[in-house]
Amino acid sequence: MSPQRVPLTFPRWLLLASLLLTLAALFGHQYIPLRTLDLLPDTDATRFIYADSDAGGGTRVEWLDFEKNSMRCTREADKPSLYCGFNLALSDNFIDGIDISEYDHLKISMVVNSINPRLSIFMRNYNPAYSTPDDGNSAQYIIFNVRVEDINPELVIGLDEFRVADWWLEAREIQREYTKPEFNNITLIGANLGSDLAPGDHELEIRQMRLQGPWVSAERWYQLVIGVWLIIGFGYVLLQSAHYANQAKGSERRYQWLKSRHQQLRHQAENLKDMAQRDKLTGLLNRHGLELSLEAYAPDSGTPMAILLLDIDHFKRINDRRGHDQGDKVLIQVATVLTQNIRSGDLVARWGGEEFLIVAENIAPHEIYGLAEKIRTQIFATEYDASQSPLVVSASVGAVQWRTDESFEQSLHRADEHLYQAKALGRNCSVTDQPRQD
Ligand code: GH3
Ligand code: MG
Ligand code: MG
Repeated sequence: MSPQRVPLTFPRWLLLASLLLTLAALFGHQYIPLRTLDLLPDTDATRFIYADSDAGGGTRVEWLDFEKNSMRCTREADKPSLYCGFNLALSDNFIDGIDISEYDHLKISMVVNSINPRLSIFMRNYNPAYSTPDDGNSAQYIIFNVRVEDINPELVIGLDEFRVADWWLEAREIQREYTKPEFNNITLIGANLGSDLAPGDHELEIRQMRLQGPWVSAERWYQLVIGVWLIIGFGYVLLQSAHYANQAKGSERRYQWLKSRHQQLRHQAENLKDMAQRDKLTGLLNRHGLELSLEAYAPDSGTPMAILLLDIDHFKRINDRRGHDQGDKVLIQVATVLTQNIRSGDLVARWGGEEFLIVAENIAPHEIYGLAEKIRTQIFATEYDASQSPLVVSASVGAVQWRTDESFEQSLHRADEHLYQAKALGRNCSVTDQPRQD
């Protein structure tokens, strides 16, 4: 039996809701609030300005308004211009900085008043792999150059737009893996107005500096969405197979139950059939059972057969004297004697109240009387009702050969006549139409 597979239904509304949720997740990523780190103006980090006068340059620097991060660089015409700018220290010792690698971009709001066309935004990253504490220049110098006209007044620089400065790389032997910008230990962020300032004043005011980035990168976010779907899919497959296994188990149980129920019913039917064909008291075939057996009975045509009709003598008296129950017991005992004295192919039935019928096969005519007498004497010799004074039970037998030209009824009729004769002869005897062998 193959169980019909009923699939685990995935509710349509749930599927729809999941798809909508996925769409929302895919398009909603950009609306997730950004991770933000404010560096300016609200900061207690050290701010300072610098110029090249110490290095022999001709640039002067001064605060215009310290609170507003407003400064001015002035180029003296007769000396070279090397550098001049603003620094925000993210580290007290220029060694332990902050990790900004999880951010996406740096946003700077500033006002520049300079005829120089460019300025640069830079950072320093300290890494013991290439930095030493006693050399401030050994921290990686990361730079982004921007045209002044592109600052209006906000400048957004992706961290991936920063480059390691060539002069920094050229000045030292840097392993290849450290030649790309590193952001995991930034000690300083600054703005340099330039290395070749035109003579005169150049002003810079930094109003805001802020690092921003998504809490979860788009890439990670999409991976997460795919991961969730994979888990759902995998879970669904697992559930499905568990469901099928359960179903199969259920079907198997049901199949076994039906099978055993079928067997029970078959037994019951057989029992009922048997009950209908058997006498309840003695367990022998009843009239109906014998007739059915005879219908199915197909002796070889040449097989000699006999019919014996047996009636217990004065049975009424037994009932009267010992009671009906005792009479029943006698009937059972007589039935036992009968079954013990016939052969496997023979039939024995309770024909009436205290009347029994035997159909014997393979019996030669001259053996019929012997069989009748054997049974009669066994009945007579059996001990009945041992609880009281011994009970004598005898029977009379009419025995005939069932001739091949005769029907069962005809043969039975003759047997009945012979039984009547046996009764007339005084009972406890057998009468047959066949030669007797005494
Ligand atoms: P006979 O020798 O002429 O056959 O006399 P009998 O008394 O045996 O014959 P009769 O036909 O007068 O009586 C048969 C009795 O058998 C009558 C009936 O009450 C009794 N009988 C029939 N069936 C049963 C039974 O199932 N149990 C008992 N205990 N008695 C039964
Ligand atoms: Mg009788
Ligand atoms: Mg009788």
